[in-house]
Amino acid sequence: MTGLAAYAAHEEESRGRRYTEPGPAYRSEYQRDRDRIVHSTAFRRLVYKTQVFVNHEGDLYRTRLTHTLEVAQIARTIAQALALNEVLSEAICLAHDVGHTPFGHAGQDALNECMMEFGGFEHNLQSLRVVDELEEHYADFNGLNLTFECREGILKHCSYNNAVQLGELGERFINRRQPGLEAQLANFADEIAYNNHDVDDGIRAGLITIEQLLEVPLFSEYHREVLAKYPHLTGRRLVFEILRRMINRLVTDLIESSALRLRESAVRSIAEVRAQPKPLIGFSDATRELNHGLKAFLREHVYKHYKVRRMTAKARRVVSTLFDAFLSDPSLMPDEHRHTSSRLESTLGSAGRARAVADYIAGMTDRYAILEQRRMFDPGERT
Ligand code: MG
Repeated sequence: MTGLAAYAAHEEESRGRRYTEPGPAYRSEYQRDRDRIVHSTAFRRLVYKTQVFVNHEGDLYRTRLTHTLEVAQIARTIAQALALNEVLSEAICLAHDVGHTPFGHAGQDALNECMMEFGGFEHNLQSLRVVDELEEHYADFNGLNLTFECREGILKHCSYNNAVQLGELGERFINRRQPGLEAQLANFADEIAYNNHDVDDGIRAGLITIEQLLEVPLFSEYHREVLAKYPHLTGRRLVFEILRRMINRLVTDLIESSALRLRESAVRSIAEVRAQPKPLIGFSDATRELNHGLKAFLREHVYKHYKVRRMTAKARRVVSTLFDAFLSDPSLMPDEHRHTSSRLESTLGSAGRARAVADYIAGMTDRYAILEQRRMFDPGERT
């Protein structure tokens, strides 16, 4: 790719794939990563997985798939503006949530609790596990065999204990080093996307109102600006005009503050980016504050809303009852998962059995998990 900054991810300097493959004829290596992610089974499941609102609550709420697409398009703009590798950042974003459980964070927390004595469950690590191990697409290897840079971007957090087991991919968590800039910006694109779309979805669901949002400085600033220009604007158009300005503010600030930091750091290569003590992509102090204000509001008024909490409580029950039932008797799982369970148990003991159950549950869509619970516990439901 031409026109890339010196500190971008350059394909010629890639740390490569785990299994050597002939190079693609008409695509770049990172394009191949992106295409493999889009063709994966886990990617298709995102359409029926919850972001905040359960899939069947309404057709217009974000799902993990539409969230993922919003993240990818925000990331591409940022990457292009900073002369970073746009295709790589897009690939990282498209894969960033493939390890998510059904029912959003409620599902992840419940599964993590279930897995506590077996090494825990982290959705980031699960996304990596999906692309490294669980996808079954190719004759020669498990997983999608993505490039190191893409895998590095997918694994945005990782506990120390898990990092030590991950070899070169875990090193940066142990040595407190950074991933490439395309991975760093993907994190911010994720956050910009969900903070803003959760405002939209929260209003749509009737959990929050425009009046309440006026206590959020980032929102009220643009509320004033929009009404000064369109004094009679109300409803959805008013919300969208405010949200597009909020997104624009966050993206513009991120690009400009990061460009400044990149200049000041004088990094000349991805290796130098990785060796930095801190990430180089980030907001200015003032905008970070504004963004915190928005997050705090959402936490208080959307994620802790009793309707969201009820959904969360139901989701936890579904996940934990399924987990307990399958862990105590893996033969209740479909053949493929039962076989995996005995294979993992023979090498890893009960932790292996638990991991196979967690993989099965994490792969479920919201509606599949609900149906599976009925099939397991409702004698009137066909199995
Ligand atoms: Mg996300």
